[in-house]
Amino acid sequence: MRRNPRTVLLMKILISADMEGATGVTWPADVLPGTPQWERCRTMFTSDVNAAALGFLDGGADEVLINEAHWTMRNLLLEQLDERVEMLTGRHKALSMVEGVQHGDVDGIAFIGYHAGAGMEGVLAHTYLANQITGVWVNDVRASEGLLNAHVVAEYGVPVVLVTGDDHACDDALGYAPEARKVAVKDHVSRYAAVCRTPARTAADIRAAAKDAMTLAGRHAPVQAGPFTVEVEFDAEHLAMASTVVPGVARIAERRIAYTHETMYEGIRTFKAVTTIASAAVEEQYG
Ligand SMILES: [Zn+2]
Repeated sequence: MRRNPRTVLLMKILISADMEGATGVTWPADVLPGTPQWERCRTMFTSDVNAAALGFLDGGADEVLINEAHWTMRNLLLEQLDERVEMLTGRHKALSMVEGVQHGDVDGIAFIGYHAGAGMEGVLAHTYLANQITGVWVNDVRASEGLLNAHVVAEYGVPVVLVTGDDHACDDALGYAPEARKVAVKDHVSRYAAVCRTPARTAADIRAAAKDAMTLAGRHAPVQAGPFTVEVEFDAEHLAMASTVVPGVARIAERRIAYTHETMYEGIRTFKAVTTIASAAVEEQYG
């Protein structure tokens, strides 16, 4: 990653861009790379992300870095983004969805296109794996990707300033980032249905909220809230069994594993290992 020589006066915002919570997205084909629906929805996803970037720049941000955080991490249309932003695209990153937060130069992060967690009510609700995880808990609190990532960025002193997604994603964010500005781009009807607002409307809403969210930007003292005990429940027992090959991971019930780390930096890396092993253990048809 390129590092600019910079003074402490520059304000840099990181955007973590996931797709299930984007404008117009309501079912699997919308977010599955390679499908015609995904091609169409990429434009609306890019519109949400660009609107957030424009709002941050309106509000005084000097730099905006967008980190792709969905599936292959190759979804956004670079050519449709404002020329002042930069985008990190592609997979294999130390901090996955919040890669880029660890260099000490980020003053605020936005979770764009986020969604409710596994087992929760919400459009395309899940946590990392599309369907095989039925619940995640951090120190007994039900966890979404937003909550997991909020713990990670807090360890770097970076506040979550803006969250967008469906109305349930916004409600979820009240738990992990109460002060953050929130924009619901659609209202949940079922896991695969929502009342959607148009990209023109949501872009205006997101841009205004992002501009306002710059009042929340500014690094804090790093938070050390550990130790973190993470529990993951799968929909099949062999996935729990398979994931125990990851050091420190113990099976605590038929379909449930747990591990404990002092930091969520380690916690999210172990989560990534567990979900990678578990997804490799899934068989077509039988799961
Ligand atoms: Zn996601």
